[in-house]
Amino acid sequence: MTAPGSGIRFIREPVQPKTFRAGWVIKDPWTIVENGFVAVAGGQIRKIMTSAPKGEAIVDCGPGILMAPLVNTHLHLELSALQGRLPFDKGFSSWVAALLAQREAAGTRTLAAAAYKAAGSLKDLGVGLVGEVSTLGITQAALSDLSVAGVWFREYLGDESQNIHPGDESLHIRLQQGFPLSLSAAGHGPHTTSPHLLTAVKHRTRAAGLVFSIHVAESDVEMDFIAGTRGSGWRAFLSSRGIDTRTWPVGNKTPVAYLNHLGLLDDHTLGVHLLHVTDRDLDILAETGCKICLCPRSNQNLHAGLPDIASLLARNLAPALGTDSLASCGSLGIFDEMAFVRQHYRAISLPDILAMATVNGAAALGLGRYWGTLDKGKQAQFLYLEIGARTPADVMEKVTSCEI
Ligand SMILES: [Zn+2]
Repeated sequence: MTAPGSGIRFIREPVQPKTFRAGWVIKDPWTIVENGFVAVAGGQIRKIMTSAPKGEAIVDCGPGILMAPLVNTHLHLELSALQGRLPFDKGFSSWVAALLAQREAAGTRTLAAAAYKAAGSLKDLGVGLVGEVSTLGITQAALSDLSVAGVWFREYLGDESQNIHPGDESLHIRLQQGFPLSLSAAGHGPHTTSPHLLTAVKHRTRAAGLVFSIHVAESDVEMDFIAGTRGSGWRAFLSSRGIDTRTWPVGNKTPVAYLNHLGLLDDHTLGVHLLHVTDRDLDILAETGCKICLCPRSNQNLHAGLPDIASLLARNLAPALGTDSLASCGSLGIFDEMAFVRQHYRAISLPDILAMATVNGAAALGLGRYWGTLDKGKQAQFLYLEIGARTPADVMEKVTSCEI
C-alpha cells in the first residue's frame, strides 16, 4: 500500500471568512453531503450547506472529497531513522534489543533529523493531528516548528530512581495545555515502568487535565511478566538495565487489571495496543472510560497478531488508530492503516473504520472539541482528495481503501 500523497491537498484557513465547495463533503463518518459547501470564519467552521450562500466568495476545490484531517493517535517520530533496519522475524525480544542498540548507535542528531523529515511528511499523508510519544524528548521542536497539532507525550520508563530525585516526590515534568500542541506525559508500559513512577506521572497529567498515554497488553513478554508466569527472563533484562522489580505488585493479573489496580485508568488515559484482552478487561475499560488506540500493522509485524476490534466496538470503546513508529510499521499514514483494517476486518463497517481514523482519535487525545469532524466550531482545516465518486457509499469505499 502506498499513501496517496499526490492526490491530497491540505487546506488550512486561519482567518478570512469564506466558503469552500467540493463535489462531496464528509461532515462526519455517518454524514456525507453531495455538492457541499463549508463556511468558515476566524479559523473555525461556521456551517455546512447544500447550496451556495448568496453574496459570499466561494473557493471551489473541485469534484472530489472534502473531509477532516486524519488523526495518527500514536507514533514515535524519533525512531524514524530505524526504518527498515530492524528484524521482525526473530521475535519481539530480539526486535527490542536491536532497537535499543541501533538507537544508541544512530545518535541523537541523526534521530532528530529523521524525525524532522518524517514530521514534515505528515500533511502529505493527510495526517493533521498526532499523539507523538518521545522517550528521548527530541521531537517536540519538529512538531512545533512545523505547526503539527496534537499532543506531544514525554515518555517515562524504568523506575523512580532514574527519574525522580531522592527526596523529591513531585516528578518534574513540563506539562502544558496548548494550541495547536499540548505537552503531556506517558508511561511506557506496565512491564517496563515502575508502579511508583507510573502513578507519579499519571498524578501530574491528571492534575493538569491532560491525557496520559501508556502501551498496554501488547506482547507475550508483558502478559507473562504481569501474570507472574515465565517472567524471570524479563525480570533479568530489566535488572540488567538497573530496574529492580522485586516490589512491583505483579502476579495473577492481566496488564489491564494491573493498571486498574494502580488506579491509572480513567477517561484521560489512552491505552495503546490492547492486543490481548479478556472479557473482564473489556468491562474494566468500559467502566473506567479509558480511551484506546490500536496499531494493527505494527502488531502484525511484531507479534503476528491483530486486536479484536469487533469486541471493542461492541462495548462502545471507540478505538482510534495509530501507526506506532517506522521501526515497526511501513508508513505513518492513516489512509494506509484504514486500508489495512478494511482488508483484515471484513465485518467492521466503513463508517466505523473512518471514525477510528478521525473522530475517535481526536477524542482519545482529548481534542474532540477542535478536531475529528467538520462540525460547527471545529478547526477550519481540511483534506481535499482528488478523487471521483458516484454515491456516498462510493465515497466511503474509496476513502477507506486508499484508492486515491
Ligand atoms: Zn508505541
